[in-house]
Amino acid sequence: MYSDRINSLPPYLFATIDEAKAAIKAKGVDVIDLGVGDPDQPTPDHIVDSMCEAVRMPETHTYPSYTGMMSFRKASADWCKEARGLELDPASEVLTMIGSKEGVAHIPLAFINPGDVALCPDPAYPVYKIGTQFAGGEPCIMPLLEENNFLPDFDAIPKDKLEKAKLMFLNYPNNPTSAIADKKFFEEVVQFAKDNDIVVIHDNAYSEMTYDGYQAPSFLSVDGAMDVGIELYSLSKTYNMTGWRLAFAVGNKDIIAGVGKVKSNVDSGAFDAIQMAGITALSSSQQCVADMNTIYEERRDALLKGLNEIGLDVKAPKATFYVWAPVPEGYDSMGFAKLLLEEAGIVATPGVGFGTYGEGYIRFALTRSVERINEAVERMSKLNL
Ligand SMILES: *Cc1c(COP(=O)(O)O)cnc(C)c1O
Repeated sequence: MYSDRINSLPPYLFATIDEAKAAIKAKGVDVIDLGVGDPDQPTPDHIVDSMCEAVRMPETHTYPSYTGMMSFRKASADWCKEARGLELDPASEVLTMIGSKEGVAHIPLAFINPGDVALCPDPAYPVYKIGTQFAGGEPCIMPLLEENNFLPDFDAIPKDKLEKAKLMFLNYPNNPTSAIADKKFFEEVVQFAKDNDIVVIHDNAYSEMTYDGYQAPSFLSVDGAMDVGIELYSLSKTYNMTGWRLAFAVGNKDIIAGVGKVKSNVDSGAFDAIQMAGITALSSSQQCVADMNTIYEERRDALLKGLNEIGLDVKAPKATFYVWAPVPEGYDSMGFAKLLLEEAGIVATPGVGFGTYGEGYIRFALTRSVERINEAVERMSKLNL
């Protein structure tokens, strides 16, 4: 019944975890879920209020424009200027997306012919690989290794793959490793992309989720980046708006136009009322973002302290709401996740779910309160790891 592209999808590991979680819950265990990368706090009130107002305006009820409301694209460009010093033309260098996942999944359709290669990090958000495969392309894995600070090593890419490479996905601050990239790395990316004629897609979903005074640089702020790439910004994690589905792409106008061509044939744009709430999010005080970061930072410190006490050697991430921890000796990532769930009622995500090179690690999401995190640590300490 199904197409080859569906039949060839890898088994969805997270479905297995969901099943195991449901089975444990059914036994009456009080499960602490540190698995999901979804903010637990509500969308800030001023954004919700703005949506309520907008949804009552009949002019928001019709089909939106394909490229997004000009006012939303302008607010996005202004936000990029304010936060990152980027100069962008809202008409040609900004595109509204129905969440960045949609963008990532559709982007390969604009640049990949059957047989072409897309360079995809591993471990990573799975959509880079799957989107490439759906477009008939071949993902070429770039291992993210701890010894390289979880940055790809371009010299290690096989020559024959590099010749066919049209596209590269990057994501810093990174899910799942919480690694960060500096401007020097982005400069290397630009040079590499120019040398090899590769379109760069920088997925910047965690751009604002930073700690200890760290600010994540924009890929586009590096000289020449506007010639080779685009950057995806999402309102999901930044403003606790995962359910709303709103993001935007900025950067090279030809790349933006290519993505826009795919999208205008697949979807009919993001709901105008949501874009109006998005304008409110982007153009109001950013105090809500700072407040969320304070909350995540406290949780991070609680989890780190606990993990280190029980002998797991983990460094404090400077960004994202993930803690990427090596699993204790004697376990693989699935085995350790199973142990945590069955013996401690804790859900965490096995690294192998993000790709082969995620083996040996487990990801904790800081999406539960300090009290729950402390409880999780307490339970883990009884496992005698
Ligand atoms: C959460 C996440 C996304 C999805 O963002 P949406 O805008 O909600 O689709 C994209 N990329 C990465 C790396 C993520 O972790």
